[in-house]
Amino acid sequence: MILIMFGAPGVGKGSHATILAQALQIPHVSTGDIFRDNIAKGTDSGKLAKAYMEKGLLVPDALTIGLIMDRIRNADCKKGFIVDGFPRTLEQAGYLKKMLNEDKLSIDTVVNITLEDEKIIDRITGRRICPSCNQVYHVLYKRPHTHGLCNNCRTALVQRPDDSKETVVRRLGVYATQTKSVLSYYREKCTVVDIVSKDDITETSSHIFKALGLDTAS
Ligand code: AMP
Repeated sequence: MILIMFGAPGVGKGSHATILAQALQIPHVSTGDIFRDNIAKGTDSGKLAKAYMEKGLLVPDALTIGLIMDRIRNADCKKGFIVDGFPRTLEQAGYLKKMLNEDKLSIDTVVNITLEDEKIIDRITGRRICPSCNQVYHVLYKRPHTHGLCNNCRTALVQRPDDSKETVVRRLGVYATQTKSVLSYYREKCTVVDIVSKDDITETSSHIFKALGLDTAS
């Protein structure tokens, strides 16, 4: 199964991709995580991406497409994968289609998650992540078992540098001007399911599972 998690920053694409990936036993491929891994490792790609990410801007298509295509061609994606944060431009969508066509594959469903901008800002500024395993938490809605520490690996949680209010507002602007048109493209080409993000992650998750015809996550 090939799924695309779509929506503005902060709607919960990453959290729901993680839940689906676990249930379906296929990889969760996140361009944001790929960039953050590259930044942590100090690669040239990471250095280039960092400058854009810190400003809340999109990383240039050439770099983004190269990195994600390498990831998707990994053997672990043969049974399917869930993409989160890609494509964010029409050019990226075109490349993905071309690559999948070459492998005689196609996107099964685009899961479009929506949420009002004010709630997005609230969610993103309270978000905390584990820099080691990328698990996502929230200071109000998804607290770790031990304050400030990741449940999985006990690493100290951090706020992403691009999760400040000023940068979030810019990222929402970028979504409206550069990314939203990708949704219209997919509405014409494949199945899109629209999911309203609820404060209760389990409720949203069960809506997603139902829309995809899957047994509800336990
Ligand atoms: P995310 O973790 O998906 O919120 O992405 C964090 C940041 O990484 C974005 O604000 C962009 O700067 C960059 N990024 C992630 N995915 C893409 C993409 N598909 N195209 C361009 N930039 C991206």
